[in-house]
Amino acid sequence: MALIDLDKIIVRRTILGIRCPVCGGNLLVSEEKSVISKLTRIISLGTVRPEDYACETCKKRYILL
Ligand SMILES: [Zn+2]
Repeated sequence: MALIDLDKIIVRRTILGIRCPVCGGNLLVSEEKSVISKLTRIISLGTVRPEDYACETCKKRYILL
């Protein structure tokens, strides 16, 4: 059984109201940009602008593409 790092979940932008898949809490925009989102932006040459979110309730971090 593979371990899944829930701190690195990538959520695809499909709906406007985004909820934490783990606890259903509100996701808040995180000011602090993660290394993954910076790398994604660099690799995609700026065409993908990932946004960092943090769950209000369980504090898990998410990257929305
Ligand atoms: Zn949560």
